[in-house]
Amino acid sequence: MVFGYRLCGGWKVKKKLMGILACPIDKSHPLELHVFGERDEIEEGLIVCPKCLRWYPIREAIPEMLPDELRKEKEDLPFLEKWKEKVPEKILFEGKPFCLGKGKQSK
Ligand SMILES: [Zn+2]
Repeated sequence: MVFGYRLCGGWKVKKKLMGILACPIDKSHPLELHVFGERDEIEEGLIVCPKCLRWYPIREAIPEMLPDELRKEKEDLPFLEKWKEKVPEKILFEGKPFCLGKGKQSK
C-alpha cells in the first residue's frame, strides 16, 4: 500500500492504522493520509476518502472517523481553514460533509 507522502516519526504506527481504517460511510479502503504536523506521532492531519471525498481530521494524534450526523461544522470548518494551504484543493472545494468552496452554507 503506497500513499506517496513523506512520513517520519509515527510512520510505523500510522501505516498500520491506515491499513485498518475504512471510510465509515461507504467502507472504502484504503484512505489517503495527509500529515500537517507531527512530533513523535502524527499530531494533526487529514484522512481523505477518495471515493466519496469525505475527510476526517486527525486532532491531537487521534483520527476522528465520525459519520456525518456526528460531525460538527463549527469544529470542523475551522480545522479545514487552519490547514487550507495543505489540504488538497478537491477537498477544500468539494469535500464532505463540509468544505470551504461554496461559501457559507446555510442550513
Ligand atoms: Zn467514503
